[in-house]
Amino acid sequence: MNFCVKCGRDCAESIEGMCVTCWLDGRKLSTMPHHVDLKVCANCGEFCFNEKWRRMEVEDAVAKAAQDAIRIIDGAEVVDGDIMVTRKDPYVYEVTLQSVLDIMGYSATDTASVIVRIKKGVCKPCSRKLGSYYTSILQIRAGSRELSPELREEVLAAVEKSVARQAETNKQLFITKMEIVAGGVDVYLSSISLGKSLMKELGEAYCAETKESPKLVGQTADGQDMYRLTYLVRLPEYHAGDVVISGGRYCKLLRISSYGGRALDLFDFRERAVRKADLPSLKLYEKAGNLKDATVISRSAGEIQILHPDTYSSVDLKVPEGYEAPETVSVVSIDDVLYLVP
Ligand SMILES: [Zn+2]
Ligand SMILES: [Zn+2]
Repeated sequence: MNFCVKCGRDCAESIEGMCVTCWLDGRKLSTMPHHVDLKVCANCGEFCFNEKWRRMEVEDAVAKAAQDAIRIIDGAEVVDGDIMVTRKDPYVYEVTLQSVLDIMGYSATDTASVIVRIKKGVCKPCSRKLGSYYTSILQIRAGSRELSPELREEVLAAVEKSVARQAETNKQLFITKMEIVAGGVDVYLSSISLGKSLMKELGEAYCAETKESPKLVGQTADGQDMYRLTYLVRLPEYHAGDVVISGGRYCKLLRISSYGGRALDLFDFRERAVRKADLPSLKLYEKAGNLKDATVISRSAGEIQILHPDTYSSVDLKVPEGYEAPETVSVVSIDDVLYLVP
């Protein structure tokens, strides 16, 4: 059995000749620097810890910066704690950490404070983005005519959605810029694999023709050839929702994919498959956006009566079985006869 040189009590354990209580008395168990700097990307708002950028709430990032800066006395272990973050201004926070420590089985608490200063910087992906960095171009073009604004917006929305999904796990993936050019739109991308995956996705979704062409743009520092890749996606003229001529029949194109399509015959309302091999021979008859709206006047079994959109005379239209006509329907004129496009 030892005795404490300070209080004289017997004690089972001693440090530097003192009982643990005397040793702990007035001793600083946790220390913090006066301040720490926390780097934030001015462009994307991510915070930098050990050269790694992470998306976090500002208060969580400030708390983490403080926790990373705390020093605990040797032999002690933090078993619990409390953290208080006080905002002084948008770029200065005061953080107080109360730590519950275990020292040789004894529990002690200590508090320490630090000022966390938020400093603006730019993360690497953002600095590339801001510097118009790109390694591939996705060229989206329409069949033979201009790419319609509706289809362009639809395709670009699909591109943005796919890039956002892929960027969730890889911040190096981004769109540098989009440029409307004659015949379509060019999308500049940060990565070659991103361009390739987008070309594949669009090719499948729209049953589009695709082509890849590399261009030598120079050499890397270690003498490797450096390429930029151009990925061309030539969209077919037809599109889901359009009226097309398939094997001599007028149909509404329901769906299209890399496996083929589904079309609804406008004469008998039978749904039929369009084989992939037959897709190139599909002919566009009327774009979905150019179909006319007609007001429905009355409904009966297998038929509705509408106002002709041009002449305003009443016209009977055949409808599919079980069809419930809304107030206005889309119609198409084929050889001067109106047909319902359900
Ligand atoms: Zn003592
Ligand atoms: Zn950034």
